[in-house]
Amino acid sequence: MLTVLDKTFVPFIDHETLQNRIAELAHQINRDYAGRRPLIVGVLNGAVLFTADLLKNLTIDCEITFIRVASYEQTASTGQVKQILGLTEAVEGRDLIVVEDIVDTGLTIVEVYRLLMAQKPASVAIATLLFKPAALQTPMHLEYIGFSIENKFVVGYGLDYNGLGRNTKDIYVLKES
Ligand code: 5GP
Ligand code: MG
Ligand code: MG
Repeated sequence: MLTVLDKTFVPFIDHETLQNRIAELAHQINRDYAGRRPLIVGVLNGAVLFTADLLKNLTIDCEITFIRVASYEQTASTGQVKQILGLTEAVEGRDLIVVEDIVDTGLTIVEVYRLLMAQKPASVAIATLLFKPAALQTPMHLEYIGFSIENKFVVGYGLDYNGLGRNTKDIYVLKES
């Protein structure tokens, strides 16, 4: 069990299962990008641990950068990304692999994709550790998916609840009360 602020979480995906699956995804990327030099674009903060563990398993030549997405604060969480922060590299003509922690409604990743495409990269692929197919509101092709999960709130291994709970090796799911 894991307590974060007022919520209780129970074990969901353990460290070894995560690491094995990440090694498989890296293997696919090594194969798909053989002879190319992709730019790995990790999305902070949630994907920091996933990006690091993925990188450790990449054997191809690759570069790495991190971005943050900024959205205007509104009354409801619209998921509207207005800006990508931190991308100082020229991406025109590059093969990009965006690394995300989780795709829920898909609104974030769709906007990130659109904003990156405007900079004319050669290609943009998405690698997400977690995917909630039942929550997806907008069709989006995800090239690399770690785990498709139920529409439940998860924390750990980079994912937070109100800023906390990112610093665990395992992923936990909100306990049903
Ligand atoms: P979207 O709904 O736009 O696909 O996801 C937006 C963001 O919501 C994700 O990048 C992630 O930060 C957060 N999010 C979505 N589902 C979860 C979840 O189950 N747990 C946590 N900790 N964050 C989530
Ligand atoms: Mg994210
Ligand atoms: Mg969050």
